[in-house]
Amino acid sequence: MYSYPQLSEEHSLVRKTAREFAERRVAPLARRIDEGEYPRELLREMGELGLLAPHIPQEYGGAGLDFRSMVVAVEEIAKASPALATVMEVQGSMIAWNLYHYASEQAREKWLEDAAKGRKIIAFALSEPCCGSDAAAIQTRAEKRGGEWAINGVKLWITSGLYADAYLVAARTGPPELRHKSISLFLVERSPCVEVSPVKVMGVHGTGTAEVKLNDCRVGDEALVGRLNEGFQVVLDDLNNGRTCVGAIGLGIAEAAFAEAYAYTKKRTAFGKPIADFQIVQHYLANIHAQTEAVKHVVYTAALYRDTKDPAFPMYAQLAKVLASRLAVDATRTAMQVMGGFGYSTDSKVEMLYRDAKATEIYEGANEVIMNTIYRFLEKFSP
Ligand SMILES: Cc1cc2nc3c(=O)[nH]c(=O)nc-3n(C[C@H](O)[C@H](O)[C@H](O)COP(=O)(O)OP(=O)(O)OC[C@H]3O[C@@H](n4cnc5c(N)ncnc54)[C@H](O)[C@@H]3O)c2cc1C
Repeated sequence: MYSYPQLSEEHSLVRKTAREFAERRVAPLARRIDEGEYPRELLREMGELGLLAPHIPQEYGGAGLDFRSMVVAVEEIAKASPALATVMEVQGSMIAWNLYHYASEQAREKWLEDAAKGRKIIAFALSEPCCGSDAAAIQTRAEKRGGEWAINGVKLWITSGLYADAYLVAARTGPPELRHKSISLFLVERSPCVEVSPVKVMGVHGTGTAEVKLNDCRVGDEALVGRLNEGFQVVLDDLNNGRTCVGAIGLGIAEAAFAEAYAYTKKRTAFGKPIADFQIVQHYLANIHAQTEAVKHVVYTAALYRDTKDPAFPMYAQLAKVLASRLAVDATRTAMQVMGGFGYSTDSKVEMLYRDAKATEIYEGANEVIMNTIYRFLEKFSP
């Protein structure tokens, strides 16, 4: 085990706690989650351990630590269940962060502690059937009627959408031509106005992916998160946290795939020797390891920059997401290849990791769109 200059002794302790929890509680349930079971109880347990939102102050249900602690915890949980890590990072790195930094006093008091402790689940509802990458084009509307906001629209691909107690909904509060300048965020509690239906996806099963219809949901001004018409700024802040955590999920997936493949190739024999003795297999594994170590430095640096408020954080968040998701896809494909038919079997862990890895190239922003952002940032951040 190497040490990383971005991380301290305290982060090693967080890693140890998360790893023990992942091995003891998550790994035995990972298959059930992959079969579709939403891990509600595990989220509660992680909340009690301070793993769900470690960066949130203790008085609001977090562990009073920092964002690097969140990233390290996500990485360890992802090794056992990328699906659980996905739900966890939305709840901790995006929702809890949002409530702490942008929600009204009333909403913060009502929701934050329960969210950070995993007692209440809040989904992040931005994408719509019309538009995911082009999020500034969303069509869900919030209109002021009789002192209340009336919200109508359809959200798609919403993680935890099936089971959430509330939804952080991006809605248009001005002319569509203003695009991102006429979008606001609202906290909408689940009630009969919210209609959810499951969406079948290739991987990250058990995350409760849903279509969420908002049929004239009514909320007051206290439900506004961030300022009116400035919700998109909050979304971008959220997504930078989320993308850093997707970096951690990608790392966890790659490390888990490597561990499976490394052990397998030592014991599997062909042509009278372990397949690990074939040089091409050694190079495949050495290549995953080399890439993983490089990406770790990027992901941990992104988290460090979040903690130190470094202006390079937004750039590093994009780099972390793109590099780690590519790594996850490469590593799981290679691991499956060197494990042959056993890797392709639905009984193997790498088969689950392979399916889960693909999602990391799409959710929290398709990699092509992130590359556009990286290009835009070049002028500001390149040496
Ligand atoms: C498992 C899963 C969970 C998700 N969870 C959530 C959630 O909790 N909340 C939420 O709000 N959303 C969620 N999403 C939605 C996700 O953020 C979107 O799928 C993603 O942003 C891409 O949007 P889209 O699917 O509409 O693809 P589109 O926008 O239709 O894009 C399709 C493809 O076109 C290409 N493309 C699009 N625009 C550009 C461009 N400008 N430059 C170059 N190429 C481009 C890319 O290759 C892209 O993959 C989730 C998605 C998945 C798959």
